[in-house]
Amino acid sequence: MDVLNESVQVLKGIGSSKARMLSRLGINMIQDLIYYFPKGYKDKSIITRIKDAAPGGYFNVTGIVESRASESRSKRGLLITRFIVSDGTGSLAIVFYNNRFAKNMFKQGDKAVFSGRTSLINNMVSMECPEYEKSVGNNINTLRIVPEYGLTEGLSQKEIRKAVYGALELVDNKMEEVFPAEFRKRFKLSEINFSIRNIHFPDSLKSLEMAQRRLKFQEVFFFQSYLLRMRNRTAIGEEGIEFKAKEDAKAFESKLPYSLTSAQSRVLEEVLADMGKPSAMNRLIQGDVGSGKTVIAFLALLNCVKSGYQGVLMAPTEILAVQHFETIRDYISPGGENIKIELITGSMRSACKKEVLENIKEGKIDIIIGTHAVLSEGVDFNKLGLVITDEQHRFGVRQRAILQSKGSNPDMLVMSATPIPRTLSLVLYGDLDISVIDELPPNRKKIETYFISSDKRDRLYNFVKKLIGEGRQAYIVCPLVEESEKLELNSAKEYCENIKNSYFKEYNIGLVYGKMKNEEKDRAMLSFKNGKTQIIVSTTVIEVGINVPNATIMLIENAERFGLAQLHQLRGRVGRGEHQSYCILISDSNSEAVRDRLSFMTKTNDGFLIAKKDLETRGSGEILGTRQHGLEEFRLVDLSKDYDIIKASKEAIEYLYKDNGIKEAIYHKLVKYLNDEFDKIIEKIALN
Ligand code: ADP
Ligand code: MG
Repeated sequence: MDVLNESVQVLKGIGSSKARMLSRLGINMIQDLIYYFPKGYKDKSIITRIKDAAPGGYFNVTGIVESRASESRSKRGLLITRFIVSDGTGSLAIVFYNNRFAKNMFKQGDKAVFSGRTSLINNMVSMECPEYEKSVGNNINTLRIVPEYGLTEGLSQKEIRKAVYGALELVDNKMEEVFPAEFRKRFKLSEINFSIRNIHFPDSLKSLEMAQRRLKFQEVFFFQSYLLRMRNRTAIGEEGIEFKAKEDAKAFESKLPYSLTSAQSRVLEEVLADMGKPSAMNRLIQGDVGSGKTVIAFLALLNCVKSGYQGVLMAPTEILAVQHFETIRDYISPGGENIKIELITGSMRSACKKEVLENIKEGKIDIIIGTHAVLSEGVDFNKLGLVITDEQHRFGVRQRAILQSKGSNPDMLVMSATPIPRTLSLVLYGDLDISVIDELPPNRKKIETYFISSDKRDRLYNFVKKLIGEGRQAYIVCPLVEESEKLELNSAKEYCENIKNSYFKEYNIGLVYGKMKNEEKDRAMLSFKNGKTQIIVSTTVIEVGINVPNATIMLIENAERFGLAQLHQLRGRVGRGEHQSYCILISDSNSEAVRDRLSFMTKTNDGFLIAKKDLETRGSGEILGTRQHGLEEFRLVDLSKDYDIIKASKEAIEYLYKDNGIKEAIYHKLVKYLNDEFDKIIEKIALN
């Protein structure tokens, strides 16, 4: 449909100045207008007889203007315009304030619809500043369920409505339907033109509901389809590797320095069962920080290696890769296993790297741990069987696909410490099986969390000193300044200088900020990890997953600037060792919502509860990280409420892909649409 790609200026009433305003709302083409969905609706479909319009209610009335408007001034100089309308059952006064144009808006005999609240003024039922619409033939603004759009300066509700209405007329019910009738029937979806029309100008509440269902479904369905493609998996249940060393992996449990929690055992069982199947595993392990995901990754790698394949574990930063490398090496060596493990990072010296790469290619190395470096061209595997990525949200799905392509359909395991509610995981991981480690290892001390205002700073710093005196270490997350990187840097440096010169003269203080070079960042984190610095000041989120068990206190300045899930991630840096840990949220905000959020943090350590609350209080876009995927944010779907639709969409994905139903002729249009849109997304990612 070409008309969809026309500029909004083809519409009557939209010139270059209105077009510029629309552009501020992201609306440039007819298509954008069609998909600019209302924020809400007002039901103005019921007309009340004027005699029934009692004072103190909200009514729509149709009336004939009885007289020309009169103007007067109140004592304070307010311009009052007033006229009478009647409908044969009674009369009503219409009143406007400080509106120079009101006087000439209506003349005697005009017929119009007025919507507004009624009140009693000078003993006469009156409607103050009502919404009105003159033409009663083709109603956009009254006598129906009326859409309410998000506005921008200079653009009125009426103007947007008119533009959308005009766009719909232009499109004239000729939008292409990509879902075949059979599919729509199966998943209870109304037709596209009906849906688009009714989401803007519903015939009835029932039609509105049907339109919303269809369009919400399509949002989730397309999103899931693109993710599926990014994962490079057109077919679920493709042939993969059957790993046969499950018993070896399980036997190793007795050689671990601790026994697995029952949640870990359950998840391990799920992972090993998947690996034993002929189809390729695609599993996500979700577990709160500290729930012990690494050991599960290790046992999966063991199963892989003992079955004769190579396994990769990829971490988002060098320091995390090193940490995993050391942990896994320590698991292996006392067990007397003959397993070769290597670390690949960007900062590796090239001579050394060359040899390692050669060995990987020849299959002399069993387990490879690394950063993005393992994605690079020169890294070839002999027999890659398992790919594990840690802290998945730091990786694009694309990178995972690259790794996957280095083997012949290897098993995939994704580990995430970002607890997300069920609805969200269904959207994001529609094609992954999910295991949840919903239990922390025993004897973990609960992190004590407090919420204080900055006037308690002296006492707080003294407390930090006391802990450092006992040999502990501290994180300070500094005011987050979004305006500019330079400011961000200055504020962190300034903060650092400040405490160096005052409260914490006798200590070594490290500094980490967002735009620092990776090596510098790693160096600073490393000195903290080795205990050379007692305090580390950071502006941005300290590396996810960093493990410094000796750090037992975290101060978060301007805590109101963080989302709940983010605070929880940050807090997860402490409470990793034997000592009691603390998290102090500092904020002087008076906002009730902020105080409510921060108090919530002091009451629970449960990441899933926090994520749920976070989703309710914030939008989904940020949490979904849609931009990172090059995908659009949801306009209609509310991830905290639309569980049924999300589930239906996941079912549809399975229905289409499991038995390759998508290849049938009736889905040609859908496939073409998905292909075209996907190409655009890839283009967008490439440009970023
Ligand atoms: P995360 O899930 O955040 O990646 P880790 O795998 O880093 O957690 O584990 C956190 C800490 O808990 C590590 O020091 C690890 O050795 C320890 N740990 C893991 N599982 C257990 C267990 N079952 N019992 C005791 N300690 C455990
Ligand atoms: Mg981890």
